[in-house]
Amino acid sequence: MECIFCRIVAGEIPADIVFQDNEIVAFRDIHPQAPTHILVIPKTHIASLNDLTPRHTNLIGRVILVASELARKENIADSGYRLSISCGADGGQVVPHLHLHLIGGRKLDDRLG
Ligand code: 5GP
Ligand code: ZN
Repeated sequence: MECIFCRIVAGEIPADIVFQDNEIVAFRDIHPQAPTHILVIPKTHIASLNDLTPRHTNLIGRVILVASELARKENIADSGYRLSISCGADGGQVVPHLHLHLIGGRKLDDRLG
């Protein structure tokens, strides 16, 4: 298996997992950009936003819902946070397995890109 996040899903690479169920895993980013920096990913390999189809609608909705629940657990729901998904080279995507960044715990940069 080539994909590093598929290997985390399979338990082949250790990760600080903060949530998982049958279709989603969330773990702390190895290079956190803020006090809370968690990646929420579908367990199934979807390379990027470019590969989404209507059958992923419920899954992607749940990825966002899990992130919002984790924000509450991390006590950053009230102070605020950002969810972001990078896509492709210009979007800054490095790992080609769709992932949602949950970032918070400090005042974030005003600019988006
Ligand atoms: P991207 O730039 O693709 O949106 O984000 C990839 C993120 O994955 C980066 O923030 C990077 O620090 C994180 N990352 C890359 N490899 C690993 C890893 O092996 N374990 C964990 N926990 N995070 C990783
Ligand atoms: Zn993968």
